[in-house]
Amino acid sequence: MAIESVNPATGETLETFKDMSRSEVDQIVERAHAAFLQWRSVPFATRAARMRQAAERLRAGKAEYARIMTLEMGKPIVQGEAEAEKCALVCDYYAEHAEAFLAEQSRPTDGSRSYSRCDPLGVVLAVMPWNFPFWQVFRFAAPALMAGNAAVLKHASNVPQSALAIERVFREAGFPSGLFATALVGSSAVPDLIAHPRITAVTLTGSEPAGRSVAQRAGQELKKTVLELGGSDPFIILDDADVPTAARVAADARLINSGQSCIAAKRFIAVEPVADRFCEQFLSELRARRMGDPLSRDTHVGPQARVDLRDDLHRQVEESIKRGAKLLLGGEIPAGKGAFYPPTLLASVDKGMPAFDEETFGPVAAFIRAKDEADAVRLANDSPFGLGASLWTRDRARAERVAADLEVGSVFVNGLVKSDPRLPFGGIKRSGYGRELSEYGIREFVNIKSVWIA
Ligand code: NAP
Repeated sequence: MAIESVNPATGETLETFKDMSRSEVDQIVERAHAAFLQWRSVPFATRAARMRQAAERLRAGKAEYARIMTLEMGKPIVQGEAEAEKCALVCDYYAEHAEAFLAEQSRPTDGSRSYSRCDPLGVVLAVMPWNFPFWQVFRFAAPALMAGNAAVLKHASNVPQSALAIERVFREAGFPSGLFATALVGSSAVPDLIAHPRITAVTLTGSEPAGRSVAQRAGQELKKTVLELGGSDPFIILDDADVPTAARVAADARLINSGQSCIAAKRFIAVEPVADRFCEQFLSELRARRMGDPLSRDTHVGPQARVDLRDDLHRQVEESIKRGAKLLLGGEIPAGKGAFYPPTLLASVDKGMPAFDEETFGPVAAFIRAKDEADAVRLANDSPFGLGASLWTRDRARAERVAADLEVGSVFVNGLVKSDPRLPFGGIKRSGYGRELSEYGIREFVNIKSVWIA
């Protein structure tokens, strides 16, 4: 099977790569393991210097990296540049903090000395998605490498150029050869990779079905996993919210990355007193966003990453309408080339419709009315997912009270949900388990070892 880089704005095949053979993949894993045996005893200061080099490479090359992302998966170019900058930020963050996060801790017991230490695990397999083709990889790789691990990347099959560019960043930053390596293979190669004796742990960012299959295989092999899966994030507008700001941010929260973000807001739940006003203003904000050429600097919404994904999204919209949702905007596949789908607003959305029950991975917003605050919380929690939530109220105490009741991994009050190296990131329920970023993220792939001396 070939791995293809296809421009979703035009349908043109940009480059075709040969799928690596099993023995080529074996060599990559063995090389990563050999590099790990050296790297594990390299001092933090040296690791940090390399990681800062990687950050510099990312900043210096951001135009080139953004262009790769735009051509390969349709990300609006300005957002690709911001993504490269954010990757640099996470490299710098772990260069600065890794040593303290993993520092030995004294644990007084009946021994003469006892303490815990964090040792690396070895070669970690990263199975990654195409939607933030650089950020998803760096937010795993920066902490994993700083902790002394090696990494093998199996990137999504539609972003091979991004995968190879990331490998180059680490090579050019002076990391040992093979410590971070890309295996150009499809998803059918993942079970064998997980079972490979040199692979010690797996991290997957992707869809729920991929999560199930990776968790199952890793379970058989008794290997640690971190799963960052899908979401159907609620965006809750309470009666004392700043409605115009909420409506503007709601459009950004839904349309970021052309709607293809796990933490993009998907279900917009407004309480009765402000519901009409919010819906009207949200509609006009969505209308104002420009869909078009992702290489153009004033495009807000580019194409979807692949035609099949766009078609699946359209099916979810049609099915929701069939079950009673009202179409207020969009909802039609535009004529012409490319995987485009317009900003779409569905009202009267309810349980039993794909727009409520499933993840809509594209620019489709579901508007839902709630009777009051308690009803809004009930609706927000009535989802198989639990990734993020955005909550709008002017009352700080109320916000903190409601935040405690939301069944999600992150709550952002009066702002859109975003990932930040300083904040733990991850989900509950079918959004996965484990955490990335912050001190929690770097401790996922270490052996927390206790040492007791008589
Ligand atoms: P995907 O189809 O699940 O693919 C993700 C990765 O998993 C790809 O490398 C893919 O390889 C591989 N894969 C797919 N099926 C697999 C299987 N059965 N066994 C092993 N590996 C498998 O997801 P996507 O379409 O790339 O990305 C969108 C999804 O990712 C959404 O659900 C989104 O919410 C989620 N996501 C979550 C987060 C988070 O932090 N929680 C962040 C971003 C995205 P191939 O490409 O070769 O099929």
